Amino acid sequence: MSESKQMAGARSSELFAQAQQHIPGGVNSPVRAFRAVGGGPLFISSAKGAEVTDADGRTYIDYVASWGPMILGHAHPEIVAAIQQAAARGTSYGAPTELEVEFAQEIKSALPSIEKVRLVSSGTEAVMSAIRLARGFTGRDKIVKFVGCYHGHSDALLAKAGSGIATFGLPDCPGVPAETVKHTLTLPFNDITALEVLFKEIGSEIAAVVLEPIPGNMGCVLPKSGFLQKLREVTSEARSLLIFDEVITGFRLGRGGAQALYNIKPDLTCLGKIIGGGLPVGAFGGRADIMDYLAPVGPVYQAGTLSGNPLAVTAGLTALRILQDESIYRKLETQTTKLVSATNDAAKEAGIAVSINSIGSIFTCFFTDQKVVDWDSAKTSDTARFAKFFRVMLSEGIYMAPSQFEVGFVSAAHTDELLERTAKAARKAFKTLV
Ligand SMILES: *Cc1c(COP(=O)(O)O)cnc(C)c1O
Repeated sequence: MSESKQMAGARSSELFAQAQQHIPGGVNSPVRAFRAVGGGPLFISSAKGAEVTDADGRTYIDYVASWGPMILGHAHPEIVAAIQQAAARGTSYGAPTELEVEFAQEIKSALPSIEKVRLVSSGTEAVMSAIRLARGFTGRDKIVKFVGCYHGHSDALLAKAGSGIATFGLPDCPGVPAETVKHTLTLPFNDITALEVLFKEIGSEIAAVVLEPIPGNMGCVLPKSGFLQKLREVTSEARSLLIFDEVITGFRLGRGGAQALYNIKPDLTCLGKIIGGGLPVGAFGGRADIMDYLAPVGPVYQAGTLSGNPLAVTAGLTALRILQDESIYRKLETQTTKLVSATNDAAKEAGIAVSINSIGSIFTCFFTDQKVVDWDSAKTSDTARFAKFFRVMLSEGIYMAPSQFEVGFVSAAHTDELLERTAKAARKAFKTLV
């Protein structure tokens, strides 16, 4: 039996074989299939705090955190209780609720750039809708995105979109007509010159620039000093809108997200992941004059049967209220710093070249000796080495995202003891790579 075959237990492997008969690739989102690391996925049966348990009854320390939402850990008792109480009052009405007003106020209080906000059910919907709104509001078609940034799987944004697509080596996605993406221009992240040149040429035709202010979908990449400021400058000058996709960073790096950290006021902001407290929620919001361009006040149509769903909003509101306690963010950062420095030490000890990017409670350990500042430098990583590292970590009970180009998430439930177990596993894993 090959090493990769031994990763998932017998029950997970059996379930994966069954799943593949009924679900394309056996998964409902491609990266879950473990294709980049070999072997089949773990089927998860339950989760609590910082740990997940698979169908074979094995427990792992979890750094996937459902790809970001679970900042407070899994099955947080307050959130579970709130969902249970809400469910008893009915699970969907398709009508406005007081909860939505409270939720909008909660989001606005954390992100002052948001004057009005609309709820949707996923991050994909949030960014797709913000783009339509920006085009409608400005009367322009062109949008700019950055190579390696991911904004969900809507047609116009599926160009050079980082991890999910890169992992599968799909340069272009069949099914997306060329006409649909012809208005999508892509630039390298952190390249101020390329940005200035483009805006000098056609700034007046650009509806919006959309970006992850701190990209998480090519692994963790930090904006160079001055990059976000320059973006704000050139977009304001050209009357193009600046859209921050804070689906990962919103309420992850502090309540105010990346925009508070870098003191930049975008015109529109997209949220998702954490704001749903583990249930499906997305949101987009920003300047009132722009947001009022949406139906029913304005002409840009956008809608959703389950938008503002009372269960999802209850979970999200409960999570955001818990996160009003800023000490949670300080603790998260302390824990992440400990983990990153232990990982760095372990790599050094084994003589393995790594480049670790980290901020707040997110991190990526790139297997390269280069500084990673954009997609090109991220791609210098040795993905075969990452895959081997991943497999050893998994066998040691550490569940990381199964791709080099993702971030790891630390949650409020990651205790010192769990971090030490992770560091011990990393020391062992790095040594197997020599
Ligand atoms: C996850 C993600 C999305 C898409 O959100 P879904 O809820 O998966 O549709 C959009 N933008 C960023 C930055 C993301 O990380």
